[in-house]
Amino acid sequence: MVNNILAAFDERVDSLAWMTPQTKAKAREKAKSMRVSVGYPERWRDYAKLEVRADDALGNRLRAELHEYRHQLGKLGQPVDSGEWWMTPQTVNAVQLPLQNAMNFPAAILDKPFFDPEADPAANYGSIGAVIGHEISHGFDDTGAEFDAQGRLANWWTSSDTQHFQEATKKLAAQYSAYEPLPGLHVNGKQTSGENIADVSGLTIAYMAYRKSLGDKPAPVIDGLSGDQRFFLAYAQTWRGKIRDAALRQRLLTDGHAPAAQRAQTVRNIDAWYDAWGAKPGEQLYLAPAERIKIW
Ligand SMILES: [Zn+2]
Repeated sequence: MVNNILAAFDERVDSLAWMTPQTKAKAREKAKSMRVSVGYPERWRDYAKLEVRADDALGNRLRAELHEYRHQLGKLGQPVDSGEWWMTPQTVNAVQLPLQNAMNFPAAILDKPFFDPEADPAANYGSIGAVIGHEISHGFDDTGAEFDAQGRLANWWTSSDTQHFQEATKKLAAQYSAYEPLPGLHVNGKQTSGENIADVSGLTIAYMAYRKSLGDKPAPVIDGLSGDQRFFLAYAQTWRGKIRDAALRQRLLTDGHAPAAQRAQTVRNIDAWYDAWGAKPGEQLYLAPAERIKIW
């Protein structure tokens, strides 16, 4: 799936009308050399020196902090390990690492509802596929775009492409800033910009990869739903959750991610979602084609 979605990203970049061939070539080179790690690291980290005691939660925490601090200090003067993991395999999450041009997909996210080897591909592409697409796209969000294929801080953009990218990014920020999850409190489109870019682009390329995975065969209808409907439904279902108003308020002010309900609404920017579910002008989630933001 990761390779299929990387291939979809490559195809997507190639087809962008606004981007110059020079910037495209750099973006494709970066995507091609992105290091993908799935499940767990190739080399396990040594925790032998970390003392864990069953009756000392605070002490464990303090010793773990110190252990981590020493691990980071120990890197001074050493070559960069681009295969280093930044999440444990037991973490339900995934991450893109601009300095390593790498991605970690821990084993714990490769489970239901994100991934089920028995599930219909539309559901897997709509859930873990969108996560994979999201992490790939982080390599090209407002931060990732500042790092090159080797993980160095470098500007590989032509100035006209930078300008277009920044304008599209601004429009997407305005779209999210219009959301008002709590009375009087809006999503901060600028604070959540990188995540929102990754959501829109990630869902776009996961959908492309899903369509491609079908080959020439039409998707089966399951439970009365088409393949495209199941893809977008699975995406929405990964965002189910409950949150208290106080926690939501705190996250709106501090989190780099938009709340789950607004992340589920990423679909508003995807043309195929309109075809799948038939959203019409005047409906709450409808955006006119010109207002749908496409960055990558
Ligand atoms: Zn992210």
